[in-house]
Amino acid sequence: MKNYNISIIKGDGIGPEIVDEAIKVLDAVSYSCGFTLEYKEYLMGGIAIDMTGTPLPNETVTGVLESDACLFGSIGGEKWDTLPRELRPETGLLKFREAMGVYANLRPAVIYDELLNASTLKPEVIEGCNIMVVRELIGGIYFGQPRANDGFKAYNTMVYTKPEIQRIGKQAFELAMKRDKRVCSVDKANVLEVSQLWRDTMEEVAKDYPEVKLSHMYVDNAAMQLVRNPRQFDVIVTGNIFGDILSDTASMVVGSIGLLPSASTGEKTAIYEPIHGSAPDIAGLGIANPIATIESAAMMLRYSLGEEEAANKIEAAIKRALKEGYRTKDIAAYDAKQVVTTAEMGDIIANF
Ligand code: ATP
Ligand code: MG
Repeated sequence: MKNYNISIIKGDGIGPEIVDEAIKVLDAVSYSCGFTLEYKEYLMGGIAIDMTGTPLPNETVTGVLESDACLFGSIGGEKWDTLPRELRPETGLLKFREAMGVYANLRPAVIYDELLNASTLKPEVIEGCNIMVVRELIGGIYFGQPRANDGFKAYNTMVYTKPEIQRIGKQAFELAMKRDKRVCSVDKANVLEVSQLWRDTMEEVAKDYPEVKLSHMYVDNAAMQLVRNPRQFDVIVTGNIFGDILSDTASMVVGSIGLLPSASTGEKTAIYEPIHGSAPDIAGLGIANPIATIESAAMMLRYSLGEEEAANKIEAAIKRALKEGYRTKDIAAYDAKQVVTTAEMGDIIANF
């Protein structure tokens, strides 16, 4: 039997609860699909600070790099917010992403027919919507130098090099080839030089994919179009800060932040995690929605392990659970269906 080594980072807040449900589902499906998964747990974030004094222990970096893929919960919480910047959980996460070289952040936003009423948008506007936001994750203004704040003047720098744009562009076009063959590149080329290079480079990358239709959109318009008519998009490719904003916008099209998975990939490894945070306000209450994390686990099977059948099985099980009316609290408010706990939702999905 094939065996894969999976690194697990549960993190803080609801992280441990939702990751446990994803592992439950992975174990159920791997057994029936003829492979096994071996898990090794590593510390990061607040719990790592409490136990080791640093948000990102070296063991975590080396352990994840040695594994086939990493399943990640979420980190952070008020308890650690007053620490100096260098010691905060979020600083550890940025360093972690950089060390893993995960330059491409894939965030699918797919509408479940069963949850058409959960969105803030009208059902007829979102029905059938299936968007993939491809966000550049380790460059742009979040990492650019110089950066400073002297109390009077502060600045950050949005930097992209051609190779950085080429590799994220390639990812987006490769994905589009397996989807509806449309890429919308989002920038601010009417104002920013860095966006002009972005746009020119995307045009060059597009030459290698004659079947894919490339369009360009300014980020302000893209935000509006996402809410006005999300179905016009297939793959959206964009830089770090624009992608951050647009993928959160896309999450509200779907309904609950508890439904959205993500994959962060590069040459060395890949990290799979829900897009939401550690939700300290609901930690330990058994009401967190585990679906975003379970979907992230399905993405891990598909993209890192090549276990397509198992990934499909998980996605079908989620759909069935929703179809039969099972709802965690976040998605129950919209229709009075059967409300279940975090662990019950995990059981239901694992047993389909
Ligand atoms: P971060 O800075 O880490 O992104 P955040 O402060 O933006 O975190 P989240 O932790 O994502 O916030 O939580 C935002 C809101 O969404 C909270 O009210 C939280 O309870 C809710 N929420 C987040 N994840 C889930 C989930 N899986 N199920 C239900 N509600 C959730
Ligand atoms: Mg957030």
